[in-house]
Amino acid sequence: MKRIGVFTSGGDAQGMNAAVRAVVRMALDKDLEVYAIYEGYQGMVDGGHKIRPIAWTDVGGILQKGGTAIGSARCAQFRERAGRLQAARNLLEHEIEALVVIGGDGSLTGAQLLYTEWAGLVNELVENGQISQELANRHQHLAIAGIIGSIDNDMYGSDVTTGSDTALHRIVEATDAISSTAASHQRIFVVEVMGRRCGYLALMGAMAGGADWVFIPENPPDMDNWEDKMCQVMHLGREAGRRDIIVVVAEGAQDRHGKPITSSYIKEVLESRLGEDTRITVLGHVQRGGAPSAFDRNLSTLLGAAAVDQLLAAQPDEKPFVMGIRANKITRTPLDEALARTRSVAEASAARDFKRALQLRGSSFNESFDIVRTMVRALPHPPTPGQRRMRIAVMNAGGPAPGMNTAVRTAVRLGTDKGHIMLGVSNGFHGLIEGDIREMDWMSVHGWASQGGAEMGTNRYVPKGSDFYAIARNLEAHQVDGLLLIGGWSGYESVLKMMQNRSTFPANNIPIVCIPASINNNLPGAELSIGADTALNNIVSAVDKIKQSAVASRRVFVVEVMGRNCGYLALMSALATGAERVYIGEEGIRSSDLIEDVKQLAAGFSKGKRLGLVIRNESANKVYTTSFIRALFEEEAGDLFDVREAILGHLQQGGDPSPFDRILATRLAAHALNHLEKQIEEGDIACACLGQVGGALVFTDMEDVPRLFDMEKQRPKKQWWMELRSVARILAKPAPH
Ligand code: ADP
Repeated sequence: MKRIGVFTSGGDAQGMNAAVRAVVRMALDKDLEVYAIYEGYQGMVDGGHKIRPIAWTDVGGILQKGGTAIGSARCAQFRERAGRLQAARNLLEHEIEALVVIGGDGSLTGAQLLYTEWAGLVNELVENGQISQELANRHQHLAIAGIIGSIDNDMYGSDVTTGSDTALHRIVEATDAISSTAASHQRIFVVEVMGRRCGYLALMGAMAGGADWVFIPENPPDMDNWEDKMCQVMHLGREAGRRDIIVVVAEGAQDRHGKPITSSYIKEVLESRLGEDTRITVLGHVQRGGAPSAFDRNLSTLLGAAAVDQLLAAQPDEKPFVMGIRANKITRTPLDEALARTRSVAEASAARDFKRALQLRGSSFNESFDIVRTMVRALPHPPTPGQRRMRIAVMNAGGPAPGMNTAVRTAVRLGTDKGHIMLGVSNGFHGLIEGDIREMDWMSVHGWASQGGAEMGTNRYVPKGSDFYAIARNLEAHQVDGLLLIGGWSGYESVLKMMQNRSTFPANNIPIVCIPASINNNLPGAELSIGADTALNNIVSAVDKIKQSAVASRRVFVVEVMGRNCGYLALMSALATGAERVYIGEEGIRSSDLIEDVKQLAAGFSKGKRLGLVIRNESANKVYTTSFIRALFEEEAGDLFDVREAILGHLQQGGDPSPFDRILATRLAAHALNHLEKQIEEGDIACACLGQVGGALVFTDMEDVPRLFDMEKQRPKKQWWMELRSVARILAKPAPH
């Protein structure tokens, strides 16, 4: 294969640029020629100047931009065979042998059709005398790889699609902002989000925003008098002290009979029955706009790289595949299968077979719906008479991680709803030692879903000596049956120490579940920890600004990021910002590397480069500090460029949690609580850490932690993201000449 084409089509989605950049650079790196097809299928049908070569530097500086730099369009002609014939002619004219299509299900349906008809179209062009038989012989097949660009996350073939994480950012920014005004005036807000057939954005937006009610197309209210039920809950919520009320509705929401549930109808119901001032906010295109989130940039980059690999590895007559992600692994699914499965959800929904529609959405979607359904209650279910009311303590420990509050809120609400008594421990292990423990009720965590920081306090103190006696005494005094710890490594380490003291202090014989919360993402038994995504977004938006500050000067920035001994934040932020070089402790830094890097930068600047970016993890090397690297680069650069250092510091730990972290925190806390409940029921006192591993939520026995974890470096022995270094390295290469 020599030449490929890439295009974006249909509704634009944030992250499309990252995908285009990755496709172009990975393909050029593999010695392919790359043509961009501007304005989607319209460009393919129009041909001429709309199909032209695209170079390495053409995709510079687009990573952080929303929309799509190569344009997108809807094209009616392509829906007709005549249009596709014209498109085929234009592709053949440029001898394009393979395509990467980035778009939603409509665009991908078009691509599947083009593939299926290809041989027929080529023959027809020969018969019409529009192309030679010889050209036709060389192009009997068209290879296609698809990337789903869709903010709705409405397609089978990928857990998440390019753009959906950023759209959730926009939704959560809006609901966070609306909550404060709603609370001030005691108003109700109905927030309408995108999603004609798919309630993903509405459901996850409601979960992350701590909304009070949600309507989605695939799971209509299960009763005909849902209006009564909703109004009753809102009324009770007000009585319980809720000041702000937010109802999230997907634009395609419907009732069980298929009748649309519109935002204006909801407003009418709330106003007429409750007499409450109700306002509507339709988010509309805001959801498609703005800079892509760190997650969308990296997801799209990896999918773009994988699409090129897929085309290169394709057999001559291989059918199209769509690239996706499951857990943190790139997957591929036959495009026809992905389209058929996507259609079946829409069909089930249209036929009002909601059970099937939900089932097709997958188990985590359903589980999320159940969690939201409980969280929106005005008050918990009262305990069942005669049930065992367990006493479950919740605490934070370790450095602050955005999302800790979200996890506490989930645990407290779901626990009290199950009839248990939830105890909050303040200030990490200090609180457990000093007996700073109190019962938490439903409303005590109101508004915590969106709050950064750690309301209950947290610190890195690890208990020692007589502390264990105090802990045991307090656990006994409060009759704690089980403990949920939300935190970082010092929290995990403390639990390990409590386990070692069990024979001396029998009160420690209770089950403990740790859930990973640390911006460093360095915890055992978890691929991602709560807070890391927020920190990554904080870094990425800071670096975007730093880069913008340097428009006119020839400058290299050396940016130092947190992470302690774990290079996750450094590598992922480098990937998301297009940094030339990243220094992480896992690889170490050698003086020869530094010299080589400064030479490469100098070569780039001497050819007209204007901006350089290097990211260094704070503990990458004791001697080659950020200041050292800045001084060395500056000295070696001479007049070619100047160098500035930026140590991002604590802004990385701050801010409200990102939607991703809120969703992760909610799911982890819900699972941990169920597990603890079961353990207490069965008298099982094993301690475990919970985390997302390979797409599932998995419990790892605490006893296994010393085997999996590098105690000295405080990071897992095996880190999945280390594999991503090669992609980062290729994309950051200087432009070939
Ligand atoms: P999206 O890709 O975001 O779902 P659309 O559904 O508007 O957006 O599709 C984008 C373009 O893909 C359409 O304008 C059309 O050119 C092409 N397309 C969509 N559906 C088909 C189809 N069934 N057959 C051929 N082309 C299609």
